[in-house]
Amino acid sequence: MPSTCRISSLIPAGFIAENETRIDDEIVLTVRAEASIAPCPICAAPSRRIHSRYIRHVSDLPASGRLVRLRIVTRRFCCEAPRCPRQIFAERFDETVLPVRSRRTARLEGLVHHLGLALGGRPAAAFAKRLMLPVSNDTLLRVVRRRAISRAGPLSVIGIDDWAFRRNHRYGMIVCDLERRRVVALLPDREIATIEAWLAAHPEIEIVSRDRGGGYGEAAAKALPHAIHVADRWHLFENASAAFLDAVRKSMRSIRMAIGATTINPELLTCAERLQYEGYLRREETNAAIMALTKDGVSIKQIVRRTGYSRGLVRQIIRGRRTDVFRVRLSTLDAYLPWLDAQWAGGCRKGAELWRRMKTRGFHGSARVVSEWATRRRRAEKASDQNLQKVPSARTIARLMTMARDHLSKADSVTVAAIEAGVVALVEARRLIERFHTMIRTKIEADLEPWIAAASTSLLASFAAGIAKSKAAVRAAITQPWSNGQTEGQVNKLKMVKRQMYGRAKIDLLEARLIGAA
Ligand SMILES: [Zn+2]
Repeated sequence: MPSTCRISSLIPAGFIAENETRIDDEIVLTVRAEASIAPCPICAAPSRRIHSRYIRHVSDLPASGRLVRLRIVTRRFCCEAPRCPRQIFAERFDETVLPVRSRRTARLEGLVHHLGLALGGRPAAAFAKRLMLPVSNDTLLRVVRRRAISRAGPLSVIGIDDWAFRRNHRYGMIVCDLERRRVVALLPDREIATIEAWLAAHPEIEIVSRDRGGGYGEAAAKALPHAIHVADRWHLFENASAAFLDAVRKSMRSIRMAIGATTINPELLTCAERLQYEGYLRREETNAAIMALTKDGVSIKQIVRRTGYSRGLVRQIIRGRRTDVFRVRLSTLDAYLPWLDAQWAGGCRKGAELWRRMKTRGFHGSARVVSEWATRRRRAEKASDQNLQKVPSARTIARLMTMARDHLSKADSVTVAAIEAGVVALVEARRLIERFHTMIRTKIEADLEPWIAAASTSLLASFAAGIAKSKAAVRAAITQPWSNGQTEGQVNKLKMVKRQMYGRAKIDLLEARLIGAA
C-alpha cells in the first residue's frame, strides 16, 4: 500500500498547516494554532476576541536536506476580563512545542542544546551546519548557557573539590550533588569567601563531603555549622600515603646505614679476577700434588683412585700440559695476578704502564691483554662504587615498603628486608598506616581514638595530630556512605570538556556544559 507523506505530518503538534512554499533550499510552512481561544497570560481568562494577526517566523528541524521555516500566523487577543491590566495579548503555544519568544521549535532547540553540550561552540556549529540546523556558534553557546540555569533541585548532599583552571596557576572549585550525581556549580577560585558565600546561600545542605585540608574545610564548617562534614576517603588515603613518605624521608639516615651495612661489602666486590686467581692457586696445588705422587712412583690408576680426578686429566698433568687443561681467557696473566693486584692497589692504573713493568718481570703477553684487564678492573670498581651509593629515593622506598611482598623483585626484597631489620620505627609507621586503611575500609569507628593515640607517638605524629583536629569529619568518613569519588569523576569530565574548548572556555560556559550534560 503506498503511503503518502503529507505536509501536515511535518509540522509540530497543535498547529494546522495552511500553505507550503519552497524557496531555494527552504521549505516554508504557513501554519496556525488549532485552538480557537487563548488564555490571557496575566489573568488566565480565556478570550475569543481576536484583535489582529501577525507573522512569527520560527525555525524547525530540517526535512530531507532542506531547511524548514514555520510562518506562524499568530493572533492577538483582547482580554475580556474587566479588571485585567492587559488589554491585548499575543497567543502563546504549548511550551514543550514552542517556548515563548523562541525563534526555534522546542525539538530543534533540544537538538542544538545537546550538540552544544557534546561538542562546544565552534565544533558544534560546524557540525550543525552539516546537519542543516540553522544555528550559529553564538546561538549554540547561548542555548547551552540558558538551558543550564534552574535545573537543580533542593540540595542535600554535596561534594566539593578543586580543579585546575590552569595547572599550578589558577584553581577553581566544583560542587557536585552527590545524590543526583551531577555538577551543581563551578566556582571561579578557591577563596574561602567564595565557597563560604556559596554555601551560605544553600542552607538546606545537610552533608558536605570534602578534602580535609585546605582553607575551604573551615569555610564549609563556618558557613554550614549544622551540616555533617565528611572527610573524603580518597584524600584520607592519600594523606596517609604522604605521611608515610614523610616518615621515610625522616628516616633516610638510618635507612642508608641499614642498606649499606647488609648488602655491600667492597672487599667481596673486587671482581672475577680474584676468583680466577684463586682458581689458579687451586690448580697449582692439584698439579703439585699429582706430580709429587708420580715422583713417588704411584701409578696413574692409583692416582685417579686417590685424588678422584679423571684419568685423562691426571695423564695431561703428568705430561706437563697442565695449563692447557684449565685454559681460561686470562691465562697469560694468571701468574701475574697477585702482582697486578698489588700494583693496582699501589695506584698504577694505566694498562700500558702495567704492561711495561710486567715485561721487565718476564711477561711475554701483549699490551692489549693487560690494558683489557685494567679496563675490566676499572669497570668492576665503578660498579661497586655505584652499588655503595645506590640507596633508593624516599619515594621508591615508601612504595617498595607498602607493596605486596610477592610483587617485589629479589633485589628489592633484600633492600626492604634490610630496612625492616634496621629501622624498626618505620615498620611501626607502616603498620599504623595499614591499620588506618583497614579502619576506614571496614568502617571500624571504634578504632579511631586508639589509632590516634598510637600514632601520636610514632613517626606519623603530625599526621595523627591533623586527624585528631578534624576528628568529626574523619569519623563521618568512616560512618557515612558518601564519598567524593564521583566528584573526582566530574573533575575528570570537566577537564575533558575544558580541553575540547582549547582551554579558552569561560567558566559559565564550562559550568553550563557540565550541568546541562548531567
Ligand atoms: Zn487578562
